[in-house]
Amino acid sequence: MLGIDLGANKVLGVKVKKGKVTRRVKITLKSKTKDEIVSAIDSLIDQLGKGEKAVGIDIPGIHQKGKILKTPNLPSLNGFDLKKEIEKKWNKAVVVENDANCFAYGEAIRRKKKFLVGITIGSGLGGGIVIDGKIYHGKRDVGEFGHMTIFVNGRKCTCGNRGCWEMYVSEKGFKIESKRIFGRSLPPLEVFNLANQGNKKALLIFEKIGSYLGVGLANIANILNPEIIVIGGGISKSKKFLLPPALKEMRKRLMVSEPKIVVGRYDSAAYGAALLTKFFKV
Ligand SMILES: [Zn+2]
Repeated sequence: MLGIDLGANKVLGVKVKKGKVTRRVKITLKSKTKDEIVSAIDSLIDQLGKGEKAVGIDIPGIHQKGKILKTPNLPSLNGFDLKKEIEKKWNKAVVVENDANCFAYGEAIRRKKKFLVGITIGSGLGGGIVIDGKIYHGKRDVGEFGHMTIFVNGRKCTCGNRGCWEMYVSEKGFKIESKRIFGRSLPPLEVFNLANQGNKKALLIFEKIGSYLGVGLANIANILNPEIIVIGGGISKSKKFLLPPALKEMRKRLMVSEPKIVVGRYDSAAYGAALLTKFFKV
């Protein structure tokens, strides 16, 4: 099986045999033009796709029947019929799915869980829901966890609303908090490095963002009561600073049994995308 994870900065391909990842190839994106992204996909299919009749590709956005409708972090792909183009070029079936859905699905299979929520925290905040072992799609699109309101009159979000979770728990949240506390916007990695050196202001930022994370986790748990909530994306690297305040805040607000909160593997979206090809009869 072959899965490809289209990220904002990289394209990751994995080959899966008997449920295990046997090969990984990562291509870093520079210009993020459509041509660059498509040639990265082509290169991965060329390297990993021998003998495969289908390819699973996950995208950081929404699609309809494999045509990309909206990918805020890779705008050059908006309107691109990914499924049609790749199928035509490679004569392989292509399954397209949202990246957070694939992440949740990949984690559910790896952890043998039937009820799991995956959230991915990076430049934005996305989510995927697995119910009874299957990705939950609702009427069509779900998983806009980042736009769950956590402050009624909170920060203005890029979506036009106010107080969205993503404005507090994502790179945006780190930039806003660091601007307030340090006087300049810092990316999460820089705040992480400072916190590692014991910088009190950086630790305070993690304390705040961690507690905002906990508010959202409690909302998810109270509604869905999954067995486990898995956190992925770049920010999950700083779990030692983020999770303690998140768990503390979540516990204050929980009305249901506590779900396990863990950090997922970086290749789970690609892995989940690969596994989705098994539903394809070719
Ligand atoms: Zn929003």
